[in-house]
Amino acid sequence: MRAGIDLGGTKILAGIVDADGKVERTVQDRTPTTSQAALLDALESAVREVLEDDIAAVGFGIPSRFDYRTGLALGAVNIPLRDVPFAEEMQRRLDLPVGADNDGSAAALAEFTFGAGRGCRDLIMLTLGTGVGGGIVLDGRPFRAWAELGHMVIVVDGEPCQGACSGRGHVESYCSGLAADRLARRVLGDGASARDLVEQEHPALEEVGHYLGAAIGSLVNVFGPELVVIGGGFGTAAGNLLLDPARAVILREALAPAGQEVRLALAELGKDAGLIGAALVGREALAAA
Ligand SMILES: [Zn+2]
Repeated sequence: MRAGIDLGGTKILAGIVDADGKVERTVQDRTPTTSQAALLDALESAVREVLEDDIAAVGFGIPSRFDYRTGLALGAVNIPLRDVPFAEEMQRRLDLPVGADNDGSAAALAEFTFGAGRGCRDLIMLTLGTGVGGGIVLDGRPFRAWAELGHMVIVVDGEPCQGACSGRGHVESYCSGLAADRLARRVLGDGASARDLVEQEHPALEEVGHYLGAAIGSLVNVFGPELVVIGGGFGTAAGNLLLDPARAVILREALAPAGQEVRLALAELGKDAGLIGAALVGREALAAA
């Protein structure tokens, strides 16, 4: 058994995951955003709440730029985490093998192993939530690069990006849940949100799908994946309202035959993807220990 911890911008989800990817027990806490010390303390206590005697390893998915080789969390857009030897620090606190990875990479690994990507050789996942994250699995292995897929430029000099990102025209500027909230206020008026657009199956979502298609088209041109999985709270709720318009743009932008052959699917593991992926990262840490 492994413990997995999915650190989000607003909540910490910790749970026990078995070898088949089944989540057994979870606890949820608020993410402290006041200081890095408070955040690390909260993560430690979340793990201790689910810890049992038979836990062999702990894995974390964190919304931070992450150097997998050194275990260093370099900096995050939405939480106070900067230049921390994250895995080492948690290993010292918990006295167990600890693995850590970017949360989008962890979710991609979970979908590849137990979800929409079962049986694939390679996939790209984009999670459309508060921000836009993602991960890449190539030739059966997680591609451990930067993987900040939400910060690809899709419109030069476009809309400003979110949080601590200084960029413009990024995928996150157009396809995140927060971007969809802004779109909702523009087309439905003050107080409207992305949820209203989804409930009304509003045609404005075609615009979001259009931008998403441009992002996916470029990813297909670089990586040529078999499958692109769309997850995250907003992404899975909007589903085909985004995927249908995205397909048309992918066909235009991605070179043949990759553009015709790539499959699009919605994530299957729902809100547990990050947690299950984190536990898989913990398994890798155990194997390496
Ligand atoms: Zn950005």
